[in-house]
Amino acid sequence: MSLLTVQDLGKSFGGVKAVDGISFTLAPGELLALIGPNGAGKSTTFNMVNGQLKADRGSIRLGGQELVGRRPRDIWRLGVGRTFQIAETFESLTVVENVQMALLAQDRLLYAMWRCAADHKRQQAIALLEQVGMAAQADRPCSELAYGDVKRVELAIAMANEPKLLLMDEPTAGMAPQERNALMALTKQLVVERGMAVLFTEHSMDVVFAYADRMIVLARGRLIAEGKPLEIRDHPKVQEVYFGSGKTFEKTQESAA
Ligand code: ADP
Ligand code: MG
Repeated sequence: MSLLTVQDLGKSFGGVKAVDGISFTLAPGELLALIGPNGAGKSTTFNMVNGQLKADRGSIRLGGQELVGRRPRDIWRLGVGRTFQIAETFESLTVVENVQMALLAQDRLLYAMWRCAADHKRQQAIALLEQVGMAAQADRPCSELAYGDVKRVELAIAMANEPKLLLMDEPTAGMAPQERNALMALTKQLVVERGMAVLFTEHSMDVVFAYADRMIVLARGRLIAEGKPLEIRDHPKVQEVYFGSGKTFEKTQESAA
């Protein structure tokens, strides 16, 4: 049974068909990779699912509910989370304070109340940090953390709303290979433990092949292939897009980095 059902989704910018009638589904507990060359329409797809962009056509259903036409905040409340980069303004807060902020947002408390609510939600925030292996660093300022650890905190923040579906647009950008693997292994673990669904984009094909349950491939706004990682690797249309110009998956990754 699918959690997310996308049908004939489309979005144009001027004359450019950024997303041109794509359909796919996503099941609970599934890690689905959305890949494709730069400009293929991956981010546009993400932003239609989270409500930042309104689709020109088509439908996006979460459970039985239509998401097209809803505001980002309402879509978030329905259980669609996404990872945000910790803003510079929050870097001076400690790790646990950043997660407490996310929990406060969930309760719709105002930022102004933050200081009065100093210890509010601390236990819950620590529990989330335990899940991403960051509880021991809870009281350090985020500005002191290694890059890979900041990404773990961002994941904990995204989990605060207990999303049914988590969207991760290039979560491992700028990370060293070892850090990438650690973050995706952690994501995979959360998917398995919580039955959460994840839709993610990723440049490193090593990461995609190692962690994705299934993949969909976009090129120029169209969905050209769908399947398990090994099926995709040998798919003629995918070979054409990635290898046709003499590139390998790895070279594509390097040129995109
Ligand atoms: P990807 O994330 O796969 O690299 P995008 O979804 O960002 O691709 O972009 C798909 C196409 O839509 C590209 O041709 C891009 O230039 C265009 N595009 C994306 N966002 C906008 C925008 N806000 N205004 C105009 N064109 C856009
Ligand atoms: Mg993008």
